[in-house]
Amino acid sequence: MSAMLTLQGIGKSYPAGDGHSSVLHDIELNIQRGEFVALLGPSGCGKSTLMHILGCLDRASSGRYLVAGQDVAALDADALAALRCRTFGFVFQRYHLLATASACDNVALPAIYAGLGHGERQQRARQLLTRLGLGERLRHKPAQLSGGQQQRVSIARALMNDAPVILADEPTGALDSHTGGEVLALLKQLHAEGRTIVLITHDLDIASHAERIIRLRDGRIEADSGSVAPAAAQAAGKVGRTPLPAARLTLPARVWQALQMAMVALRANLFRTALTLLGVIIGVAAVVTMLAIGNGSKAEVLERIAAMGSNLLLVRPGAPGVRPSGNIATLTADDARALASLPNVDGVVPMRSGSGTTLRLGNRDYQSEIQGVWPSYPQVKNWALSRGAFFGSAEEQQQAAVIVLGQTVVDSLFPLGQNPVGQYVMVASIPFEVLGVMAKKGANSFGQDQDDVAFVPLSTAQSRLLGQRYVSSITVRMASIDKSSVTEQLIGNILLARHGSENFQVRNTASLVEMITKTQNTLTLLLGSVAAISLLVGGIGVMNIMLVSVTERTREIGLRMATGAPVGSILLQFNVEAVVVCGLGGLIGIAIGLLAVWGLKLAGVSAVYSLLPPLLAFSCAFVTGCVFGYLPARKAAQLDPVVALAAE
Ligand code: ADP
Ligand code: MG
Repeated sequence: MSAMLTLQGIGKSYPAGDGHSSVLHDIELNIQRGEFVALLGPSGCGKSTLMHILGCLDRASSGRYLVAGQDVAALDADALAALRCRTFGFVFQRYHLLATASACDNVALPAIYAGLGHGERQQRARQLLTRLGLGERLRHKPAQLSGGQQQRVSIARALMNDAPVILADEPTGALDSHTGGEVLALLKQLHAEGRTIVLITHDLDIASHAERIIRLRDGRIEADSGSVAPAAAQAAGKVGRTPLPAARLTLPARVWQALQMAMVALRANLFRTALTLLGVIIGVAAVVTMLAIGNGSKAEVLERIAAMGSNLLLVRPGAPGVRPSGNIATLTADDARALASLPNVDGVVPMRSGSGTTLRLGNRDYQSEIQGVWPSYPQVKNWALSRGAFFGSAEEQQQAAVIVLGQTVVDSLFPLGQNPVGQYVMVASIPFEVLGVMAKKGANSFGQDQDDVAFVPLSTAQSRLLGQRYVSSITVRMASIDKSSVTEQLIGNILLARHGSENFQVRNTASLVEMITKTQNTLTLLLGSVAAISLLVGGIGVMNIMLVSVTERTREIGLRMATGAPVGSILLQFNVEAVVVCGLGGLIGIAIGLLAVWGLKLAGVSAVYSLLPPLLAFSCAFVTGCVFGYLPARKAAQLDPVVALAAE
């Protein structure tokens, strides 16, 4: 029968200054199954160091350590965690209870890593606490318990995984002699049940409760009262021990577990959690709102362009690259006639405009823009009349003095609401008969009043008003917008043939749409990236808070690892915490962002709801959580259990 714990030539040294300071020297020790051993020695002689090595919380610098015949040097961090989980129960001088957890949850902690379900854990923890006389204090927090009660909670915790070996480091050190005596009695009872107990103390009276006393001085074994007959120890048997069911939690169960722990941890620091959330919320809400505004303004501009007529081609005088101006004399009405016969052309209207022409009715003057156009104007521009009729080809041929007014002109010249049709207005001392009134159109996307206009036949404008035979522009209406580039090409060819040089420009609203879409996309991208930066800042906030949280909870991490938490579980826990913060912040941010969009729409700002920005923002927040949670989580998981436990 091999010994339970075997130390062979164990030494431990710490780096100190340039060299090393040796704390343990050449320890040779066998502890049999079922023994009750006291490690006795003055303060600073290396007892705790030895216990950390015994409990696999720390590794020796030299020598071999075997647990039940297994060399621990061969085990990695997770295998050590599993070994601790199933083999050792720790009782610390300062209890090391989680301040935010109830007595019951503190006791249940090690079983999380042994893979027990929630219900079983709670039931077992209640049983153990009741057995140790704390049945009335299950829901108390450590701060609401006396020192003796806290130590009993920590003993219950050591028993939770039914560990065969209890390592107790000065368990009575912080207790008065009466409660200390109770704790010792408890340890004796556990020994009687067949457990191996290693009791560490500087006090001979306390050590004398054990069956075997090992004296330590300056890191060496000074004396050993010797092993009690192993048979006697073995005979103690397994009275009253409740064996732990072997269980292994599935991944979803472990994530659920981590989620619950994360909620507890986040609730314990509500204010800080809220502030961190705020960073994420602002980031996500900003992304959602900004993108909605960007898309909204794009949709609005495109809609206005469509209203202008995306099936229209505009021919203007002036060579390509020259700023188009109505005063460049290259286009004529004959050009327009030539274009009218092209395929896919639905209508053509040349236009000659002269701004700042005065219209007079009686003693009332109004300055407006007079445009000379063909009778095809209402059809090409898809602009109906509200009264009367547009002039026809007869008026065009006769250079008739007839006029069609825009609504703004009508409002100015006929303020009392008289019917203008049939009336005469004076333009350049010529009486023009009003034939009709155009329907009201309102302002265009550049804010210009489109109703401040009056139309006369092109021939009239050219010969009687402006004395110009050139036109300012020709508008071509296409039957099908799909063939616009072919039509554009044809128009170019015909005009080139007629003029001999390219002294005209053909503009397509489709290319305008394309250009504006590009501009708007850039704007949306800009808004989006500003918002993304705020999301990133939110993410850094999360990382910061997770780092603080890791630092603050180092002892908790140490304790979790001491009770058997594998690296993956610590990683999972802190990652889940970060993801919960980001996920929650993401959801609230989306809600607020959508609300803001709704509010903006009410306020008249054009914004577009779409699924993509919220999804994008939420996934960003989620990924941020994973990324920024990972670094602190890794930092936490890489800690040495002893180092973590020693943290303040
Ligand atoms: P005991 O528990 O017997 O009072 P410890 O085992 O805690 O003593 O410490 C033994 C010696 O090891 C002390 O001199 C202490 O200063 C030293 N020691 C303990 N931990 C460390 C450490 N992490 N780094 C350096 N020295 C340490
Ligand atoms: Mg100590």
